[in-house]
Amino acid sequence: MPLLVMKFGGTSVATPDRIRRVAKRVGVEVSKGYDVIVIVSAMAGETNKLVGLVNETSPLFDAREYDAVVSSGENVTAGLMALTLQEMDVPARSWQGWQVPLRTTDIHAAARIVEIPTENITAKFAEGMQVAVIAGFQGIAPDGRITTLGRGGSDTTAVAFAAAFDAERCDIYTDVDGVYTTDPRICEKARKLDKIAFEEMLELASAGAKVLQTRSVELAMRYNVKLRVLSSFDEMDDAAGTLVCGEEEIMELNVVSGVAYSRDEAKMTLISVADRPGIAAAIFGPLSTAGVNVDMIVQNISEEGRTDMTFSCPTDQVKRAEKAISDAKASGAINYHDIVADTGVAKVSVVGIGMRSHAGVAAKMFKVLSDEGINIKVITTSEIKISVLIDRKYMELAVQALHDAFELEKAG
Ligand code: ADP
Ligand code: ASP
Ligand code: MG
Repeated sequence: MPLLVMKFGGTSVATPDRIRRVAKRVGVEVSKGYDVIVIVSAMAGETNKLVGLVNETSPLFDAREYDAVVSSGENVTAGLMALTLQEMDVPARSWQGWQVPLRTTDIHAAARIVEIPTENITAKFAEGMQVAVIAGFQGIAPDGRITTLGRGGSDTTAVAFAAAFDAERCDIYTDVDGVYTTDPRICEKARKLDKIAFEEMLELASAGAKVLQTRSVELAMRYNVKLRVLSSFDEMDDAAGTLVCGEEEIMELNVVSGVAYSRDEAKMTLISVADRPGIAAAIFGPLSTAGVNVDMIVQNISEEGRTDMTFSCPTDQVKRAEKAISDAKASGAINYHDIVADTGVAKVSVVGIGMRSHAGVAAKMFKVLSDEGINIKVITTSEIKISVLIDRKYMELAVQALHDAFELEKAG
């Protein structure tokens, strides 16, 4: 039997009624002769609520227990989806991550998928089950504890299942009808793209465009999964949405194809650290051990053997970062004069494969921001991306101005 993977995000399964609506789509694919693997997220807002409960209970929480709590939202929707399908006379069964078992590393809250054995589910399909419903976002560590794959991780569950089961397609159903040139919620001129290259999508996702989790794009690229993003609210249409594909499938590559932002960034500076070999390792080693996701890093020029070290991380990891650094100071591994956290910054990035062969994108980006009177605090670049850290209050203005300047309203 040909097999499809269909993933439904939080808004698509927000109520029993919405679950019924998307289950009908699954029913249509089943009636076309497909076996279907459905991956579900938690109901809209549920995971945020669970994260809030963990933070309220234990601000510097143990990540194993965080995973035990925040993985639970998906268990509810998986069961409800299977029940809804059964009500429609479609033979369906639900699986939590550990039951598959979807094996992961033991990096709690940011686990990576190691293996998805297919036997259990394939045996059920052979017995007449037509839909396997899988709780997204969760798996099991080698020691048997529950893990989660990081926020937005159900996308990665979906692509990993598509790869493991050699699915004909992996459809990611969400609350927008595809991948846009920027978030349509903050820029009304944003355009839907019919196709986007894996590498561009990868950079957009890692720069904050949460429509797909970065790891899901990485996996799709590696295993050549046919990945489509589309709305669960539109009429069913085989040509709908955005296809994420190899760049060879795209006729004309844009110099800039999208603008992304990440709202909740913090900039932390260690003032006056000794400038000696090993200092970066002594700072960023403990941060990594503490589970802090460091993004941009800048080391200033040193004067008299001392320097300032600046890095960015998500706002909600600032306390954890401060503790890791002050513990490192207490142990004598590092020394610094002061540590300053600026929690009012955001990251804005422009992405495009055409940047490889076009100079001047960075200069243009900086000019646009300067014309708007926006000060740039940190800059980083990759081959196809330029990111800046700016005051959060200018974030939307910056996204809109860059979208205009690179004429993205003409894309699509
Ligand atoms: P789901 O719950 O279905 O996983 P998410 O909220 O994780 O949905 O992702 C969809 C959201 O991503 C959209 O509602 C949109 O606001 C946001 N988004 C950010 N950047 C983009 C983009 N470039 N194209 C489309 N959506 C984007
Ligand atoms: N429910 C999880 C989250 O909100 C996973 C997902 O929706 O992809 O991050
Ligand atoms: Mg998501």
